[in-house]
Amino acid sequence: MSIYSGPVFEMASRQFTVIADHLAIPIDERSRLLLPKRAISVSCPIHCDDGSISVFEGYRVQHHLTLGPTKGGTRFAASVDIGEVAALAIWMSWKCALVGLPYGGAKGGIRVDPAKISHRELEALSRRYMQEMIPFVGPHVDVMAPDMGTNEQVMAWFMDTYSMYQGRTVTEIVTGKPVGAGGTLGRREATGRGVAHLAKRVLKDLSIDWSTATAVVQGFGNVGSYAALELSRSGVKIVGVGDHTGAFYDRAGLNVTQLIRHAARHGSLSDYHEAPRLDPAELLQLPCDVLVPAAMERVIDDRVARDLRCRVLAEGANGPTTPEADLVLERRRNEIFLIPDILCNSGGVIVSYFEWLQDLQQLFWEEEEVMRREYQILDRAFNDMVTRAARDNVSHRTAAMAIGVERVRAAKTTRGLFP
Ligand code: GLU
Repeated sequence: MSIYSGPVFEMASRQFTVIADHLAIPIDERSRLLLPKRAISVSCPIHCDDGSISVFEGYRVQHHLTLGPTKGGTRFAASVDIGEVAALAIWMSWKCALVGLPYGGAKGGIRVDPAKISHRELEALSRRYMQEMIPFVGPHVDVMAPDMGTNEQVMAWFMDTYSMYQGRTVTEIVTGKPVGAGGTLGRREATGRGVAHLAKRVLKDLSIDWSTATAVVQGFGNVGSYAALELSRSGVKIVGVGDHTGAFYDRAGLNVTQLIRHAARHGSLSDYHEAPRLDPAELLQLPCDVLVPAAMERVIDDRVARDLRCRVLAEGANGPTTPEADLVLERRRNEIFLIPDILCNSGGVIVSYFEWLQDLQQLFWEEEEVMRREYQILDRAFNDMVTRAARDNVSHRTAAMAIGVERVRAAKTTRGLFP
């Protein structure tokens, strides 16, 4: 029996089966592509502020080592389990291959609600987690980054902890660090900017003027907030936003800068009183041109998919749409233009790659350079996806994932099977 289970892992497996069938990959080759190479589980004890000791479970899954080091974020959330982390690592693999980065996918996580522990406890836990991971990571082995529940500060603690053990500063061990500690300009904004860039491109292709367009954003963390900001800067009206604490709707347009300031000060959108509230369940069903789910997995099931009233579905989160919902979206292909997660949110890992390169070379780029190269890679991958979807008459998700899977498969075939 496999150690990987749960709805998210099941979803990644089902998606893979669709792709493997489409690519006619022989059954005996499929496990080699899908099953993670390594999974590490660690217990992380820390001293709590009240004098007690708490032990937190941490994981890291490294999906494949075929194309280079593994790469992916670290998630701090109460719901984290090994199946979810494995699924996210698998998605990272297809994402990196789709956009042409020399990485396999990885993901890590700690089962903790970061809002429920103090700043000092968070630091202790972050440092202990990285210390436990030292035998299994490295700048040319596995490079961590932020994900849900982690941020630049956590990355700085990771980098510092690893560096203390090496006896020298090793900035290239993680990406998503503060700019003053080896980070790159443009990483903080990279994922949201990428989402907005692709969404705007599709609006243009659909002849929808940005200045008359509307958008709804679910999730107001690093991805959602910058996606909303970039869209609004281009004239797109943000009519709805929400996070796990509440949702807001204003047909006249919400003040994104004010929302970001509020979220930065309070850690969430709770107690925001400057706009009318909305039942969070209604957010995804609002009529809009661009819908950006940027919160978490599996929020769009088949029922929600039937009720979507957007023109463009720009998946900022990883895995927001279930395979059942995909079937609905396929039927609604002419109404809703899907930008699938592994393309839509890939700006984050693309700029992480730039950060890693800059750290390795100790040569730092201007922000314009970072953005130009990010958009160049996104545009190329977008073109690859639409061309492939048209050629094979498949959905954008199938096309994007097929390109990713095919590249990993080709590298494995060329390298051969050891011994
Ligand atoms: N956690 C992000 C993702 O899911 C970023 C990963 C990275 O930058 O390595 O793509």
